[in-house]
Order: sequence, then C-alpha cells, then structure tokens
Amino acid sequence: MPYKSFEEYNMQVTDDVKERYKNIIEDLGENAERDGLVKTPERAAKAMQFLTQGYNQDPVEILKSAMFKESYNEMVIVKDIELYSLCEHHILPFFGKAHIAYIPNGHIVGLSKLPRIVDVFARRLQVQERLTEQVLDCINDTLKPQGVAVVIEASHMCMMMRGVQKQNSITTTSGFRGQFEKIETRNEFLKLIGK
Ligand SMILES: [Zn+2]
Repeated sequence: MPYKSFEEYNMQVTDDVKERYKNIIEDLGENAERDGLVKTPERAAKAMQFLTQGYNQDPVEILKSAMFKESYNEMVIVKDIELYSLCEHHILPFFGKAHIAYIPNGHIVGLSKLPRIVDVFARRLQVQERLTEQVLDCINDTLKPQGVAVVIEASHMCMMMRGVQKQNSITTTSGFRGQFEKIETRNEFLKLIGK
C-alpha cells in the first residue's frame, strides 16, 4: 500500500468525553442504549477531538517549515480558503471562507501552509474576530512580510439554528498590517478577492 492515512485518538480523553456525552444524551431525554445511539458518545468524542486538534498544533512551526528566500515582492493572494470552526459561546459550527494576502520581504512561504494555519486556529473553540487576528499575527510575526491582510466571511449556526434564526446573514471580519494599512494596497487586495 503506497499511501495510508490513519487517525489516532487519545484513548483516555476519548473514554472521559464519551462518558460525559452519554450523560448529556440521557439528560436531554434520550435513551443512550438504543441501537442508533449506542456508539454515538464515542463517535462524538472522537469528532470533538478532531475538531479541536488545533490545540496540539504549532502554526509557527508549520510556517517556518516552508519559508524560502525569494526576491519576489508583489502581492501574494490565496483566496476562498474553506474554513470550519466552532463558536466558543455555543460550541456550534461556524463556516465560510478566508482570504489571505501578503507582500514578501525577502521570504515567501509554501502556499499550502496558509490554509494549514487557518485550520490550526479554526480547529479550536473560537470567535471569528480572534481567529482573524490570530491568523494575521501569526503570519506577520513569523514571516515578517511587508504587509499582510486577512478577510474571513462566515455563517454561524448559532445564529441560523437558534437565537435570531437569521439564515442568510454572513459575518465579515478583516485585519490589515504593514503595507495593507495603506488604502490603495488594501483596495487592490479587496478588488482582487472580489469585494
Ligand atoms: Zn455562538
């Protein structure tokens, strides 16, 4: 077999979380022993470990592992990066797209690393505002570019399924550092991502 992907879970955490999910299911009035639900606490425990795996990952290391000396000094944009996270107020998903741009200052970074660091920060309990700033600061502090910009557009399940029940509202957050604090550079970026 030339390639094999596998998942590994901390069995202690899985067992602890599994027991708690079982209690939650019962507290909500369900029968945790019925056929369809017997394995649900374990599946849910594993799903939550997957969705919060970002706590065990180091975004700085990921960026540093693929930084290359280059003289290219125009804007680099990766847009429409799929994003899935969990709102820390309700532990419900929010999801959407991230757009990232930077202007190199002697170093470029492997393009796949930008979506990876979005995942690292998104796979934690989050608010969209902090997620935006963490991605921005991580790139700015590690790559030290001439400028960096991050825009995130997301729909929040806690607004869609409960609370105000607004199905079509999209929350946009953005952050700009360095050259992107200049209005012309910022506008060029926003135009290139179709905003
Ligand atoms: Zn929420």
